[in-house]
Amino acid sequence: MDIGRPGNDPATGIIGRFAPSPTGDLHFGSLLAALASFCDARHQRGQWLLRIDDIDEPRSVPGSADAIQRTLERYGFHWDGPVRWQSNRQERYVEALSSLVESGLIFACDCSRRSLPTGQVYPGRCRHRRVSDLPVMHHALRLSLSGTVYFDDAIQGVQRFDLAVDVGDSIVWRRDGLVSYALACAVDDADQVTHVVRGADLLEGTGVQLGIIEALGLTPPIYAHLPVAVNTDGDKLSKHSRAPAISELEPVAVLQRAWQVLGQAPLTSGSVGEFWSEAIPAWDIRRVPQQRRCVV
Ligand SMILES: [Zn+2]
Repeated sequence: MDIGRPGNDPATGIIGRFAPSPTGDLHFGSLLAALASFCDARHQRGQWLLRIDDIDEPRSVPGSADAIQRTLERYGFHWDGPVRWQSNRQERYVEALSSLVESGLIFACDCSRRSLPTGQVYPGRCRHRRVSDLPVMHHALRLSLSGTVYFDDAIQGVQRFDLAVDVGDSIVWRRDGLVSYALACAVDDADQVTHVVRGADLLEGTGVQLGIIEALGLTPPIYAHLPVAVNTDGDKLSKHSRAPAISELEPVAVLQRAWQVLGQAPLTSGSVGEFWSEAIPAWDIRRVPQQRRCVV
């Protein structure tokens, strides 16, 4: 049986994605995003891509991208087409940056992190240093955004960001010469997918990414932000909070637990194959708790 591909039909035009960073093994928090994005796409007979967000090379852990793929396979996930690597998209990111420079929205910033107020948006100190040509060495490049973005999140409801007040001038190109996560993610999502399902810890980032997508004249995807799994101390499950890797655990039990956390109606499946053949038709995004966090 070809698990997870019940009538997957490219003609629907629906494309979801799961985009882990290769910074460690998959933990339960990432599984929630994988499961929800997979079910959301497959339930609508859409495609589902696996993208490895590996632009932040200094943070990448060797072997972790392979380990993530092996765990996803063991849990019965099937992605369409080859794995997408952000590290292969450098030219596209430079093209996007050039387009923003042409629009007069980019300025060079050499403020040190220490010189900036913590917990506040960038105060606009270097805004007068507009960039009219690339490359600019040894400076971070910031995007000056204004206006308001609205979007109707499929789980969290209508969201509104005043870009100048809530978001500020975001870094799109880092001082170390790497594209920022915000620019890479915005461009890839707009270019490649129609539906983004991910953790609500990225909700603020969606304001920035929508600002970038709009500035580039691209079409934004539909967003759905899941409650983020936190432990009983309130810390997000991550390598940092020592969340256990799910690769060592029994897949069906973990999938069932994730399914329950996402508010879905109970399933009876005893195997991975049975789980997916029940879960995909039963998936109902309206049942996902409309919360930013959930304790697991
Ligand atoms: Zn600055």
